[in-house]
Amino acid sequence: MAGWAKAPDFADRPQRLAEVRAQTIVDKHGHLETGMTPVACRNCGTEVLVRKSSAHQTSVQWPVHPADHCPVFREQAAGPGRHVSCPHLQRTIDHAAAEGLIPLE
Ligand SMILES: [Zn+2]
Repeated sequence: MAGWAKAPDFADRPQRLAEVRAQTIVDKHGHLETGMTPVACRNCGTEVLVRKSSAHQTSVQWPVHPADHCPVFREQAAGPGRHVSCPHLQRTIDHAAAEGLIPLE
């Protein structure tokens, strides 16, 4: 088809690409409860949605299957025990909360 618009390609602009990706994630989960703040694990980059209903109560939603994205989860899921969590992600969430990036509901 003549005049076919080429899809935008931000491969040469990683910063812009990251912004577009973040926007896409926000859009995709726009139907979820309001007040969810996307937080990306500083260690593995896995993104979760976090909401704080009080200073001591934090709920985390996983838009993705953790073991598919986080090496810590993958390792724990493969071993014994049921309580799996990523300490790096937990620290990232704590940090974001301490910096006021996660608004209290
Ligand atoms: Zn992680």
